[in-house]
Amino acid sequence: MITYLASAPIKNNSVCLLRIDLNIESPKDLFRLESIIPTMEFLRKKKKRIVILSHRGRPQSLQGILNFEYRVSDEDKKKYTLKPFANVLSNRMREKVQFLDAVNIEDIKDEIQKSGANIFLLENLRFWKEEEIDSVEFGKRLASIGDFYVNDAFAVSHRANASVSAITRFLPSYGGLLLKKELENLDMVMHNSKHPLAILIGGAKVIDKVGMVKFFWKKADAFLFGGGSANTCLAARGIPVGSSLVDEKAFDDIRPYLASIKIHLPVDMEVLEGKILDIGAKTVSEYAKVIARAKTIIWNGPMGLFEKKKFSHGTEGIWKAILKNKKAMVIVGGGETLASLKLLGAKRKVPKNIFLSTGGGAMLAYLSGEKLPGIEVLKK
Ligand code: ADP
Ligand code: MG
Repeated sequence: MITYLASAPIKNNSVCLLRIDLNIESPKDLFRLESIIPTMEFLRKKKKRIVILSHRGRPQSLQGILNFEYRVSDEDKKKYTLKPFANVLSNRMREKVQFLDAVNIEDIKDEIQKSGANIFLLENLRFWKEEEIDSVEFGKRLASIGDFYVNDAFAVSHRANASVSAITRFLPSYGGLLLKKELENLDMVMHNSKHPLAILIGGAKVIDKVGMVKFFWKKADAFLFGGGSANTCLAARGIPVGSSLVDEKAFDDIRPYLASIKIHLPVDMEVLEGKILDIGAKTVSEYAKVIARAKTIIWNGPMGLFEKKKFSHGTEGIWKAILKNKKAMVIVGGGETLASLKLLGAKRKVPKNIFLSTGGGAMLAYLSGEKLPGIEVLKK
């Protein structure tokens, strides 16, 4: 059982180590940031001091020093620093968020102790070599900064990293409000979904998505393929796809499913220079019919190269079909899939029956029935 923040026994004047996911390209992209604000507000209402932990991108932590000080190139530091988020969070929380970029944990602790601020943001944890190897000693040092730990970073919970895994050995550890929402929604579609259940699979890497097909094979009524994933299915059946994006590694895993009537593949496509780059209008209307009847919908992966206007109509059409079905419970996840929401216009409100998951890889792993290391360590 996971104890969530709302029912956690927390002492007065304590310091929360809050793991969130600021793995965001631009500090102006507010979706992920907005999603963790409720947890921060909850903690501040309870008068807790907060030390925010996150990573960003894939910096190359420099080799050869395991002395618990971080070292990265100036270039990586500039590209991947979390510093710009201090201001953004500060404005959003309407209180000072102090950025901490000391290279070792002892200096960081000193700074916190001397400071009058109540919210702190640590520099990118992947600047420390120890983070990604789930170093127990590093987890212990991180833990020594605070009194209790909250994981509100569902999107990184499929990784055994020190700030998600090792740290929980040393502190009372709880799930945050966002983590709770993610797990409740995903558990619901996994174990209590209403039929018909339709699963849309697009995007690039099928190998990461086969697990979901396997898990839902008996439960789901239809699998609708688009994008590079549809190309992969076609190619796996021996249908020529020219130089289209395919995931060859997934051919053998996906092939056994393809003869079933549950599998829907595009009936027409947009092609340029030998590449299938989008599903066609007929396919959109076929898929829209299945979507209209569905009571549960799961979607990961754009239907085409939506970043180019000419090949965005498939993805846009699917969004429109989903928005029309106000009765279905809908889960949408994946970095690019969520980015494709902008095809509907910047101010488009997402209705309440649609849950936008902040997890890409984590969502796929969870929906495959995998145990996520960051979630397992919270179970006591
Ligand atoms: P997500 O991030 O939502 O999980 P993926 O990472 O699996 O999705 O894939 C998204 C990318 O796949 C997008 O950048 C999109 O342009 C690309 N894509 C989808 N379909 C095609 C296609 N037919 N040809 C080339 N690229 C495609
Ligand atoms: Mg992606």
